[in-house]
Amino acid sequence: MGTKRSDSIRARDAKVVSPSLTRELPVVFERGSGCDVWDADGKRYLDFTACVAVASVGHSNKEVRKAITRQLQKGIHCAFSDFYADVPVSFCEKLLEQMPKGFGKVFLSNSGTESTEAAYKLARWHTNKTWVIAFEGAFHGRTMGSLSMTKSKPVQRDRYSPFLPVVHTPFPYAYKMRMEPEECSQYCLSKLEDKMRALRNDLAAVFMEPVQGESGYVVPPTSFVKGVRRLCDEYHALLGMDDVQAGCWRTGKFLAEENFKVNADVVWLSKALAGGMPIGATVARNEIMDWPPGSHANTFGGNLLSCAAGIAALDFMEKKRLGDNAQKVGSYIMKMLSEIDSDAICEVRGIGLMIGVEMKDRKSRDRLIQAACRKGLLLLPAGDAVFRICPPLVLNKKQADEGLEIIKDCLKNI
Ligand code: PLP
Repeated sequence: MGTKRSDSIRARDAKVVSPSLTRELPVVFERGSGCDVWDADGKRYLDFTACVAVASVGHSNKEVRKAITRQLQKGIHCAFSDFYADVPVSFCEKLLEQMPKGFGKVFLSNSGTESTEAAYKLARWHTNKTWVIAFEGAFHGRTMGSLSMTKSKPVQRDRYSPFLPVVHTPFPYAYKMRMEPEECSQYCLSKLEDKMRALRNDLAAVFMEPVQGESGYVVPPTSFVKGVRRLCDEYHALLGMDDVQAGCWRTGKFLAEENFKVNADVVWLSKALAGGMPIGATVARNEIMDWPPGSHANTFGGNLLSCAAGIAALDFMEKKRLGDNAQKVGSYIMKMLSEIDSDAICEVRGIGLMIGVEMKDRKSRDRLIQAACRKGLLLLPAGDAVFRICPPLVLNKKQADEGLEIIKDCLKNI
């Protein structure tokens, strides 16, 4: 940090790149391998962010690189909305193999927000109803449809209203709401039911993150997730699950809601799906994805390089049992974090390698993240005072220990 090449890239960046981006750390990415990242001046960092939950198979995964290189010789773009091609179909088949039974159709796109948009439009089209209920603290993306459901930070919504017909209801963030988890779950379910009752004749869907990501890695009680499913059945609303951040084995299961033994009607994934290549996938049961030709499509969905990378990434995650590793190493990290004796830590929570540490305030959190970065560990903030740990799912115990030592060391001065 702070040496010549990084400084000059940041200075050039400030001149030409939109100031709307949110760089929390001064790191200038040069290259990555496995769980490590190097900056433009050759400094190595252990990456506990997976570049925001994307590099689950490790940075520059060899199998993913091989698949991209192979595909590159044959073709890059096939206009999948207009022509047929083998690779995107194979990717859809591979993805459906990972999903719980019952899902039958995939809509391909290029990002998390686009996969949310597709889910939103599908819910509106299939039900022919108007309203969607989403949760306080939700993050579903930044384009206007997704943003209508996002309610994570005020700056993301300021000046962008009017939004689409979406109402928000509390998500069981027991720590913040100062309630016991079960009490919080029942309270939030009753608030949800009030909204569903009011909208019952025109309610298309309830959209939720199975584990809230950007708002602080908030894990809902099982009773809540099951309760949402029950209410959706009762009020004839679709249940949409946004697995963009929590999906692809990060929580130990392919879809995070599998931890709660709940099945959604529409599910969407992105981030880790193609080893770092841009991709989004919205998946639904056959009878739900019944929209006609022309009702939704795009230019780059089904991109050959992204789909080839996606097949390799899904294959790698399955063969290397990254879900099991996420569970094993994640439990170890949570145990070690819980044993740290520090007044600055208020709560450690998470599932698998989706771990949130609630600090006593935002200032301590930010100081910790900056100090860790100076010592060569990448961490990201979430919510008001949380730092998150979402490393590549190939993280081993030795690497976990290295990161934990840095966190412990930094906490001594906070
Ligand atoms: N949904 C969730 C749960 C996310 O965490 C994100 C991004 O962080 C998105 C949607 C939006 O994804 P993208 O930034 O690729 O549009």
